[in-house]
Amino acid sequence: MLHYKTAHELTAMLNNREISAEEMVASVIGRIDDVEDKIGAYITLSADRALEKARRIDSTPSGGGELPALAGIPMALKDNMCTENIRTTCASKILHSFVPPYNATVYNRLERAGCVLVGKTNMDEFAMGSSTENSGLKPTFNPWDTQRVPGGSSGGSAAAVASGMSVFALGSDTGGSIRQPAALCGVVGMKPTYGRVSRYGLVAFASSLDQIGPLTRDVEDCALVLNHICGYDRYDSTSVDKPAEDFTSGLRGGVRGLRVAVPSQYFGQGIEPGVRERVTGAIETLEGLGAVCSEVSLPHTEHALSAYYIISSAEASSNLARYDGIRYGYRAEGYSDLMDMFVKTRSQGFGAEVKRRIMLGTYALSSGYYDAYYKKAQKVRTLIKADFDRVFEEHDLIVSPTSPTVAFKVGEKLQDPLQMYLSDVFTIPVNIAGLPAISVPCGFSEGLPVGLQLIGKPFAEAALLQAAFAYEQSTEFHKMYPQV
Ligand code: GLN
Repeated sequence: MLHYKTAHELTAMLNNREISAEEMVASVIGRIDDVEDKIGAYITLSADRALEKARRIDSTPSGGGELPALAGIPMALKDNMCTENIRTTCASKILHSFVPPYNATVYNRLERAGCVLVGKTNMDEFAMGSSTENSGLKPTFNPWDTQRVPGGSSGGSAAAVASGMSVFALGSDTGGSIRQPAALCGVVGMKPTYGRVSRYGLVAFASSLDQIGPLTRDVEDCALVLNHICGYDRYDSTSVDKPAEDFTSGLRGGVRGLRVAVPSQYFGQGIEPGVRERVTGAIETLEGLGAVCSEVSLPHTEHALSAYYIISSAEASSNLARYDGIRYGYRAEGYSDLMDMFVKTRSQGFGAEVKRRIMLGTYALSSGYYDAYYKKAQKVRTLIKADFDRVFEEHDLIVSPTSPTVAFKVGEKLQDPLQMYLSDVFTIPVNIAGLPAISVPCGFSEGLPVGLQLIGKPFAEAALLQAAFAYEQSTEFHKMYPQV
């Protein structure tokens, strides 16, 4: 099953001349032909371009210098990352036929590393949601059970990796949108520290929280991809200038003596018993490997969700003001004057959840309410960050479930936005504090994957990956694939 190989395995095979780039790409495209009908992970495919690039890689004369590090590796991008000449929809009617004139920095970097884009993946409209059901274009189904959601908002990316329709994918994570779908689809997903990866060319949702990161089949691939996407970018003023690191070099360092914090607030009400058991089991495994685990308190956790929905909606209401039917994107027909055109374009172009966020955010920012909502949420943000700082004075990392539940049924939470929002209770505090975190598979409950979240200190991705790798290598979960 070539389409289930990891990037590091494929790279080794390519370098040994056991396989060509074209064969790698063709195997993934063949898989897409076989199962995409059942999963619906992609909005746009770029199969022809992909094969062409693969052939170009193969025809590089031997002795013509070394191949780039990830030569020929098939990848997918969430459809909120700009790709020159390939449409980028954010799964929204308002950007339905938008073709960007430039590439996101992450795409340029991966292209340069030799990766081959096979397609753009489905998502919740403008990344607002936890199930990919808010996509304005189509649903995506979970490869482990097609009656269930893949999580969201990077549900297409997670489902594509889990079902062998891409070797890895990029997602974006504002409140959990990489880690939660990774958990629900049984793959690895990482949100790097805020500022670690350039957001240039990522369509903005909530700019102080958004971060791009990898979804992969194992931890080593996650480290490999991170190597190539991180680093300073003068086009993103929030990207941080740190010396380049090789995140793969320290993977095998183990967890002996690592001080691991287990926050009591992340194991309380609302968590499914099966999820709690798997995560508790994972903590025991870490202890067995030599980690020292102890219970801690993050007392402001309970306010994270409310603060997040004020801050993220406020930023979204401002970011989404640009979709006015004038410069690009959809424009309604049959309007009487400019105001009527704005109203009709935005009413028709945005879906229900996006409108809900715009209204929430506009309200929270309006004069008279600003102090009561936005300013207060920012103060809560500071308290949540301080909770983490305090725990990290005496601990190296924090463990928790990624999501309180396994993948839920399609339609189950659609009528109740609050239930949907609760899907991210354990991931949102991490974005609020700007920290790095990773979700790794830690077993199954009712036949569905469960994710373990590891949270690190700012810019401590290397330590996080090292711990995640030690855990993963002592389990078999990353070698299990769904029967699609
Ligand atoms: N589910 C959360 C939301 O709807 C997080 C989304 C995200 O991380 N993009 O806002």
